[in-house]
Amino acid sequence: MHVPETISINEDKSMIPTWSIATAAGAFLLIEYYFWFVLPSQQHSPPPPIGLRIYFSLSWGALVALYFLMVGYVSKDAPRRAMSSRFWIILCLVMPCGIGAVLYFLLRQPQVSRCPACATHVQGDFHFCPQCNYQLTASCGNCFRTVRASDQFCTRCGHELARDHMPARLHVLGE
Ligand SMILES: [Zn+2]
Ligand SMILES: [Zn+2]
Repeated sequence: MHVPETISINEDKSMIPTWSIATAAGAFLLIEYYFWFVLPSQQHSPPPPIGLRIYFSLSWGALVALYFLMVGYVSKDAPRRAMSSRFWIILCLVMPCGIGAVLYFLLRQPQVSRCPACATHVQGDFHFCPQCNYQLTASCGNCFRTVRASDQFCTRCGHELARDHMPARLHVLGE
């Protein structure tokens, strides 16, 4: 008999791929190079005070580096939501001023995972698998809102959760 595994929650630890960290570091160095070597050679007027130059070079460098880290995050985050990562990476890189990334965070779909019992795609807010009725999260038997498996009473309606027939698997999660 097929034993369903417990639902693994996607951890954020590997959400930023190595290539995007490398690109971010490279971009940061490139910005510093531009501010300290390219720009002064092009200016004919005396350069602005050193404090201002440090401030501008670091803040621009950090901004650009952060943007590449975010593109890396999008590339990892999009597949979890059944969205095309290639499409969104290109959009993030093509749109000016970070509009692509803003659009991504506005339009992104809820996270999808797979039902541990039948591997159907399920969204993060599903309580039951739409294909096999496997109970994915603990929910109140009265108002059907999500509850923690360890709760004794529903935080919304006060329903006594022990009266519900929660699967043994969810009881184990709560201990
Ligand atoms: Zn299922
Ligand atoms: Zn309730």
